[in-house]
Amino acid sequence: MSTAATNWHERATALRIDGRAVIEGQRRDAASGEAFACVSPIDGRVLASVARGAAADIDAAVASARAAFEDARWAGKPPAVRKRLLLRFAEKILAARDELALLETLDMGKPIQYSLSVDVPSTARCIAWYAEAVDKVYGEVAPTAANALALITHEPVGVVGAIVPWNYPMIMAAWKLGPALAAGNSVVLKPSEKSPLTALRLAELAVEAGIPPGVLNVVPGFGAEAGEALALHMDVDAIGFTGSTRTGRRMLDYASRSNLKRVFNELGGKSAFLVFDDFADLKRAAVTVAGSMFFNQGESCNAPSRVLVHERVADDFVALVAAQAPLYPPADPLETSTVMGALVDETQLKTVLGYIQAGRDEGARCIAGGRQVRLETGGHYVEPTVFDGVANGMKIAREEIFGPVMSVIRFKTEAEAVQLANNSNYGLQASVWSDNINRAHRVARALRAGTVHVNQYDEDDITVPFGGVKQSGNGRDKSLHAFDKYTELKTTWVRIDAA
Ligand code: NAD
Repeated sequence: MSTAATNWHERATALRIDGRAVIEGQRRDAASGEAFACVSPIDGRVLASVARGAAADIDAAVASARAAFEDARWAGKPPAVRKRLLLRFAEKILAARDELALLETLDMGKPIQYSLSVDVPSTARCIAWYAEAVDKVYGEVAPTAANALALITHEPVGVVGAIVPWNYPMIMAAWKLGPALAAGNSVVLKPSEKSPLTALRLAELAVEAGIPPGVLNVVPGFGAEAGEALALHMDVDAIGFTGSTRTGRRMLDYASRSNLKRVFNELGGKSAFLVFDDFADLKRAAVTVAGSMFFNQGESCNAPSRVLVHERVADDFVALVAAQAPLYPPADPLETSTVMGALVDETQLKTVLGYIQAGRDEGARCIAGGRQVRLETGGHYVEPTVFDGVANGMKIAREEIFGPVMSVIRFKTEAEAVQLANNSNYGLQASVWSDNINRAHRVARALRAGTVHVNQYDEDDITVPFGGVKQSGNGRDKSLHAFDKYTELKTTWVRIDAA
């Protein structure tokens, strides 16, 4: 295990990274022999050569997953046995904490302290939580007439394709793998081409834990190649997708063009954070919104990027938020004191800088940050940025930036605040800050979002569903409800004759 004295730079230099796919429990190059360079956003260093999976590799992985499902090497095991093996998988993840955390930080640029304290433990907890749940979930007996027995049972859907993004590579994968594997499915996981490394190690750890080969296959590659082949595959029964709304739209199209597979989309957000003038502790609200917005470099789907403030307290609140921004200086992600790391790649850097320019062009006032920094490193760093004087129609208020950029919008009345908050294509999360219990409940009810927070933002747990409404998607990860995505309800009628 790591200590405070761990030199993560030395560990990074010593790391040997295998970028090959994992199919049927074996490491494999892409069928085409092609590979792509996996580049670290910390300093532009090439970390590894990664198999460029495409249709042939997806075919092999799906065939492996299908065979594993049909011969019941996993689905046929008693739930208590799947539980034991998945718990062992979770233990292996924790045992590999340093390596996985280092890979995650090198690959996508988040601070090592958070990879160690958040990403690895959350991944293990998710797998363990579903493991523990699976032998406690019962079917139902329907209240039918006396001459029949109707059983309602949950069956695994079969082969699940999981396609995940780069912002929390391991956690997003675990949110699919936990319920899908626990329910008895076989899985083909396609990690983002921007952060494929930890998913490949997870597949190896699963096999080491005793999960049979073929049950979890991981094929790295690009979206338009491996991702499209997986989502279009005729032998994939369901897609668990997390990513942008643009790609989520394609998932529905792929399903309609292939076998009408079930598609569960967890998509983007533009979450509103509403601060009313009756909320006394403005400092706490400011600390919370900055912490939630700038965590993970602002690359969080639920980042509270639209801050709506009552005009009476707006000046005070904005000053408090602006004072928070410098507490998140972009720095070397491999230093344990760093709280803000690098943006995932140059494309994302340009996107974020483009939005900062758009905010200025549309007349918003940049009151903190706004600049690219640390150019000498060869990495991609942007200061935590706050815009005041934003109108809800501006680009920076409407579009998901996915970087450390906050927009502050002022309102006059509760009705206006709710209208502004709901006037978005997205509906992932929202937060209301009020000391008036009636207002807090009233506004929480009126907000159209999958999750609403009251007087806090960062509370989260595997026990609650996570997902959005409107163009933030339709699926729900986490909690027992996630089993609904990876199981089919089956009804079995049994006739009972009279004596
Ligand atoms: P993205 O849509 O570009 O990519 C996501 C995944 O889809 C990647 O694996 C990618 O390779 C694949 N993909 C891309 N194009 C594809 C195509 N044409 N066909 C098939 N697959 C394709 O998203 P991203 O930039 O990796 O991730 C950021 C997005 O994810 C943000 O919008 C963020 O809000 C969202 N997100 C949502 C949640 C949630 O739970 N709602 C959580 C995390 C991230």
